[in-house]
Amino acid sequence: MPEFNIKADLTPANFDNLIERHGQYVRWIRRQACYCVTDSGRVDPHHKECEGRGWIADIQRTFDVEGEVVKHAGNFLFPKKTPVEKIKRIYRKQPFVEYDVNDVAIVPYKCKEGTVIKYVGTEDSWNTLSAHQTLYIDYDYTISQSKKTQDVTYLGSGILEVNNFNFDSKFEHEILNAYYAKNVTTGETMILTGFSGKYVFFKAIGNENPAHTWEISIEYALPHTLAIQGEILRMKRDVGIVMMEGDAFITVPYNFYIGNGDVITALVAEERDSQVIQVDPAINEYELKQFDVTRVLNIEDETNHDYKSGVDYIITKRNVLKFLPDGIKPNGKASLLFLYHPTYTSIKGTPQLRTPENERFPKRLELKLWAKTGSERKNLSGNMETGFYHG
Ligand SMILES: [Zn+2]
Repeated sequence: MPEFNIKADLTPANFDNLIERHGQYVRWIRRQACYCVTDSGRVDPHHKECEGRGWIADIQRTFDVEGEVVKHAGNFLFPKKTPVEKIKRIYRKQPFVEYDVNDVAIVPYKCKEGTVIKYVGTEDSWNTLSAHQTLYIDYDYTISQSKKTQDVTYLGSGILEVNNFNFDSKFEHEILNAYYAKNVTTGETMILTGFSGKYVFFKAIGNENPAHTWEISIEYALPHTLAIQGEILRMKRDVGIVMMEGDAFITVPYNFYIGNGDVITALVAEERDSQVIQVDPAINEYELKQFDVTRVLNIEDETNHDYKSGVDYIITKRNVLKFLPDGIKPNGKASLLFLYHPTYTSIKGTPQLRTPENERFPKRLELKLWAKTGSERKNLSGNMETGFYHG
């Protein structure tokens, strides 16, 4: 069993470092039980939010870390994950000392983006500890950030596109929440109708102009670093492991509870696919067969028109090709060539292993390519809208 093939001298901390160094950026969408599910497991079949499925899918934003050895200097602690959302416990083991979390504050880290923890109490706390005296910390960190920006383009039809919205120049962020959109030129605050990917939608009132200055306030997610290994096929061949149904493994730190059906997207890798759609003059939105379409390379139809993103169409809801009212739309059969990020669903968990000191080990999970999980696919794509967009 490959999941038990963990060397005894490899500590959870070492393993986390390994994942960090060899991992890749991923988005993790968690499938969580809907609040309409009763204690006896009954689902409200007419519930609008979950469409009667009993679960909702959402991007994980906060994570808990337990027992991290934390660096300290003077009145400051430097947790590895940042920004810190909540401090739960700060302690030493021998002799056991627990510090009062009311005496600490989460403050911005001046040298780097993020946060550190500062002692603000009256006692001379860890200030007097020497560097080798170990402190441990339990805390929550968040992967979401907020920003207010005027670096947006008005595409017409009540659609604003966030510019330069990338991470490490590797992939585009995704909006989790939109707080407001303002036409700075006219001074008008717009009524938001939704958001998707890098777009914010609002109710157009008629005097919008692409030359106006716009301002929006949004929340977006940073990626996780996890290690995906697509080695199952090779292992099946070499070792003859036939009980596995997956296409890949993912190795995750101990504090990640990836559940059955959760959706993991590799955010840097891009693959190519094609699809033929039949465009109906009355229908503006077309669902593409991959989960996370990043870019349409080409739309070909009998007119040979050069269809352009942001002018004729946008990709919304991750895999919906939406033709814009002010753009040109194919009529009849159109052939698409597009790029997408490989996406997997989690199909099997492994038991949580612990070290002799009762520390938890990282876990390994089996993943299946999302495009292969047919029935799941429709459910998820219908449920993926994080916002309040119904256009
Ligand atoms: Zn529900």
